[in-house]
Amino acid sequence: MKKVIIIGAGISGLTAGVYALQSGFDVTIYESHTIPGGASTSWRRKGYYFEGGIHWMTGTLPDTPTNKVWKNIGALSDDIPIHVRDPFLTYDFDSLTICLYRDIDKLHKHLLSIAPEDKKEIERLFRDVKKMSKISMPIMDIKGVKVREKSGVPLSSIIKMLPAFALIPFYSKQDSGEFSKRFRDPMLSQFIKTIIGPENNALGMVLTIATLASGDGGYPEGGSLAMARRIADKFEALGGTINFGSPVSKVVTRDGKAVGVLQGENEIPADAVIVTQDTLAAIDTLFETPINEPWAEKMRKETKPVLNTFVSIGVEEELSDLPESLYFNPKVPFYCGGQEQTIVNINNYAKFKDYAPDGCTAITSIIGGDTYEFWKQCKQNGTYNEEKERLANALIEIIENKWPRIKGKIAVWDVATPLTYERYLSSYKGSWMSVMGKGSKMESYPTKPKSINNLYFAGQRLMVPGGLPVAAETGRKAVQYLCRDTDTVFQGKM
Ligand SMILES: Cc1cc2nc3c(=O)[nH]c(=O)nc-3n(C[C@H](O)[C@H](O)[C@H](O)COP(=O)(O)OP(=O)(O)OC[C@H]3O[C@@H](n4cnc5c(N)ncnc54)[C@H](O)[C@@H]3O)c2cc1C
Repeated sequence: MKKVIIIGAGISGLTAGVYALQSGFDVTIYESHTIPGGASTSWRRKGYYFEGGIHWMTGTLPDTPTNKVWKNIGALSDDIPIHVRDPFLTYDFDSLTICLYRDIDKLHKHLLSIAPEDKKEIERLFRDVKKMSKISMPIMDIKGVKVREKSGVPLSSIIKMLPAFALIPFYSKQDSGEFSKRFRDPMLSQFIKTIIGPENNALGMVLTIATLASGDGGYPEGGSLAMARRIADKFEALGGTINFGSPVSKVVTRDGKAVGVLQGENEIPADAVIVTQDTLAAIDTLFETPINEPWAEKMRKETKPVLNTFVSIGVEEELSDLPESLYFNPKVPFYCGGQEQTIVNINNYAKFKDYAPDGCTAITSIIGGDTYEFWKQCKQNGTYNEEKERLANALIEIIENKWPRIKGKIAVWDVATPLTYERYLSSYKGSWMSVMGKGSKMESYPTKPKSINNLYFAGQRLMVPGGLPVAAETGRKAVQYLCRDTDTVFQGKM
């Protein structure tokens, strides 16, 4: 039996692990952290449970191709409840509230009632959303692999998707910020650019509304850590081993082949190595000489990393009357990592059992922006903890002003900066996805480098914009390449 080493027990590493075991390989995962999940994680502080990963995961809708993968690897099953947030997002403008409802007709009417002067643009948007709702992420077999069960896109589905394909050039050539300017109502315009963020391709925004309308995208009970543990349990039940607290410093290569990994002083031999550490970081750090193939150069040059500062707060107050995902403009802007912030995002977990002590609520806030260098400087000049506290206090003051009933009821706060993510994930600048900006063509990068045999890559960075489905899909794909190279039948079910 061929011995395979996987670097990383995030979602891509665990996925690759399950498929490789199912296909008959002897698999060991080396993970630097003490728990599985990587960026898909949750944690407890003083009785509060903070969700740090999944905010919405596609492939929760039964019978979609991605759902089959989630079930195949043990991430989801029919008895794991899926929480489907509706409205998906609420923007509170004080004088007006705009909601992103999942029901497409309800959303259509809601937006028309808010901005009748934007009727023409609203009509066009909803016509296009309906066409886009026929698109779903395909799960394909690679060319030449032997499989137990075939997976591909049936011709009938491709035909249904054709009208949507025709819209791609129009939306992908502009970012959401530019697209939002088509709407004259300033609040509607602001709402549109907030859905996935103004710097992201407008195609991603329309696809998001379309996916929500199709009923896909939810939050599995227990969240990120519970889901990662389910996949890890399946991996171990199939006979795999995960070595936690075991960072790999180098992939060992000889005569143009990966032959093992260095873990501490020890060289551990393997017939193949699958690297799931962020590819953008791995190509420069995990090899004796950085990987300099054309795709790697392109990845270094073109990647726009998504990173954030994440604030979690435990409130001794029941907040189930507030929206689950809320945006609003604070009376005065606040600063995070030296960058001015004029919008606050709050995720409210009041409706989730055991996420907080009785009568209390766990809330989180994702503050986007590349603040890596700022935090690094703080670390160097000794102001890191002070700056984290200043940020937490600024945000607490804003939410106390917004909801005076929570004043003085903050039980706990926690701030994760890009340096925290970098420390846990060893990813580029602590990032966990890539921006699919204006003009982006959903770049994808190879699973196998040309210069080193028996080496495979998987993970969020390989297909822009990344995220959980990409992590799983690329993990599966790495094992299909491994199967093809070793003349093994890929056993994953579809
Ligand atoms: C705040 C936040 C919100 C998000 N929201 C969503 C969402 O709503 N929907 C969605 O789809 N996605 C979301 N994501 C993104 C998603 O979580 C990630 O894209 C995905 O989990 C990446 O998985 P991965 O396996 O590719 O990489 P990672 O999760 O980075 O896993 C890599 C693993 O490898 C380990 N590792 C790295 N280097 C080494 C080494 N040298 N030796 C040993 N181990 C190593 C790391 O510790 C890590 O466990 C979110 C992420 C964050 C942080």
